[in-house]
Amino acid sequence: MKSVSNDLLGLFYPKFCSMCAKILIKYEEILCFSCRTELPVTNFSEFKENEVERIFYGRIPVEAGTSLLHYSKKGVVQKLIHQLKYKNQQQIGTFLGELLGDEMILYNRFETVDCIIPVPLHPKKLKSRGYNQVTLFGQTLSRKLNIPYYADILKGKVSLKTQTHKSRIDRLKHLEDNFELTNKELLENRHVLLIDDVVTTGATLEACCIQLNRTKNIKISIATMSITD
Ligand SMILES: [Zn+2]
Repeated sequence: MKSVSNDLLGLFYPKFCSMCAKILIKYEEILCFSCRTELPVTNFSEFKENEVERIFYGRIPVEAGTSLLHYSKKGVVQKLIHQLKYKNQQQIGTFLGELLGDEMILYNRFETVDCIIPVPLHPKKLKSRGYNQVTLFGQTLSRKLNIPYYADILKGKVSLKTQTHKSRIDRLKHLEDNFELTNKELLENRHVLLIDDVVTTGATLEACCIQLNRTKNIKISIATMSITD
């Protein structure tokens, strides 16, 4: 009965592929089968010294890093992330969390990670968008890896300082001021998985890590939905 009513619902309220916009058929979720096979997965969860980890060499210590997908300008992943960020298609986060979670479980590089923290949105952005695009991604990873998700320990804040951002260090200092850590004690001796949607230069993640590193004996790993080519 349930599937009959679902089929009927599909007739009246069809769902569309988030990448090619084709109507989804039975058993297809978020993406049609052909788009799903075209997803440019990186398999970074399996390998050390992958591109994500290399971004942070010499900047901050990262235990392990991974990214689910390759992100290229005008590519399919850009489209997908755009839908997630600006078109309120939050279920894409769940979908990507499922995929990455399965991949991370398959290899042992992340097995000592014991909690998940998202890169927070700037308060203004959070207000206008209404949601953090990594929330469902993080909650899904939390369920899959069976570790807690702490949404509010690292907070976005409005930086009061005006800066000229001349050098990389200046810019980083400014970025750092956009985040604050609210409960250091909870993270002591923990191995945190810091998550975000896209990693490009790594500046935002680095700024978050600097805040997190104020905690005693903390270890940090990084997982993102995608990495820019
Ligand atoms: Zn499609």
